[in-house]
Amino acid sequence: MESLACVIHDKTDLRIEKVPLGELGETQVLVRVCAGGICGSDLHYYLNGGFGTVRIKEPMILGHEVSGTVDAVGSEVRKVHVGDHISLNPSRPCGRCTFCQTGQPHHCLDMWFYGSAMRFPHSQGAFRERLIAEEFQCEPVGDSVSLGEAACAEPFAVALHAVNQAGTLMGKNVLVTGSGPIGALVMAAALYAGASEVVATDLHDAALKKAAEIGATRVVNVSVDPGLEKEEFLSDKGYFDVAFECTGASPVLRTIIPVVKPRGIIVQVGVGLTGDVSIPMNGLVGKEISLVGTHRCNSEFPLAVRMIREGKVNVKPIITATLPFERAVEAFDLASDRKAQMKVQLSF
Ligand code: ZN
Repeated sequence: MESLACVIHDKTDLRIEKVPLGELGETQVLVRVCAGGICGSDLHYYLNGGFGTVRIKEPMILGHEVSGTVDAVGSEVRKVHVGDHISLNPSRPCGRCTFCQTGQPHHCLDMWFYGSAMRFPHSQGAFRERLIAEEFQCEPVGDSVSLGEAACAEPFAVALHAVNQAGTLMGKNVLVTGSGPIGALVMAAALYAGASEVVATDLHDAALKKAAEIGATRVVNVSVDPGLEKEEFLSDKGYFDVAFECTGASPVLRTIIPVVKPRGIIVQVGVGLTGDVSIPMNGLVGKEISLVGTHRCNSEFPLAVRMIREGKVNVKPIITATLPFERAVEAFDLASDRKAQMKVQLSF
């Protein structure tokens, strides 16, 4: 059996091709993919052929933010049934390494993550009509939300994991730099976690409008003076208890350190093309600021699905366009336009 898939061959060389489906095992689920969100990493593969030292070395199916319906289940599968709507967890950790054994499977030494060229042979992605997944990857999402919303579970789980790096946000002043899809979902997660103020920044007014829609209490366009360099943010050693840096752009972290309070926390969420950034070290040290990273998600995935299913978060505002997967090239070009688009999804 075969299935049509979106396969990246090289920078800007994205093709729709037939790929083999494989045989359904006892603990596996045959999923008919319905919606797939284009993520920043998919775009990096499409526009640049990779990021940092990660490069496409062989054809790879893109995509890791998908939802679908269950078409068939193996004889040992109990969690899902034929016809169920599911969000698909893109992580397939080994379950045996030291990190898997100590509750940190997102740091697995032998991770297969959909649509990632971090390992070779590459880990093939989920932008295909049908695929065979492990039972543990499938989270039932019910019928109360669309499958487009269900496909936002992975980025929302990433946002929840980022928020979990910052300790309690109850009553805190929170800054989120970058109002793309992840930034907007971090805002939603921070508000849910009790932040009293969530200030969103971006270079584009369209993104800031979305940020306000999802719940940011204030928006700052940093392409216009004074941006973050307001007296209010700078006086008394800073205004924000916690900042989430979601752009990955190297100059941004520099602008955050002056506006974060002593003993505040900066969570670096965005990843840049190179990952190299220079920072005003003395500000970081003198104010005893904690700078922490965050990587994908762990137990937040089922939580994200539950919150979407129960309407505790509204992810709809971030989905700005949906195109049939046959028009993937057009969809990727559209998604590259950050001025106009947040999350572009493919429908299958
Ligand atoms: Zn492992």
